[in-house]
Amino acid sequence: MIKYLLLGFLVVLLYYVWRRPRSNTPRAPGQTAPSPLPQSMVECAHCGVHMPANEALLGQRPTGADYFCSEDHRRAGPRAH
Ligand SMILES: [Zn+2]
Repeated sequence: MIKYLLLGFLVVLLYYVWRRPRSNTPRAPGQTAPSPLPQSMVECAHCGVHMPANEALLGQRPTGADYFCSEDHRRAGPRAH
């Protein structure tokens, strides 16, 4: 009986040893890894939805820049809410 326990322990040990180098494989920057930098959240000027700043569309106004969640809302323009 004890040899099955040892076998199981060995399998788990080999699994972790085999797995470790794979997790350290270098990944191309900007691929699927989430950015380590904290994302600043912005608010859609039309509907008020919050989204990461890098996903927001930027609208231009003489008074300054607005963020929008979609092209439709960028065209619709800012709205007071
Ligand atoms: Zn919106």
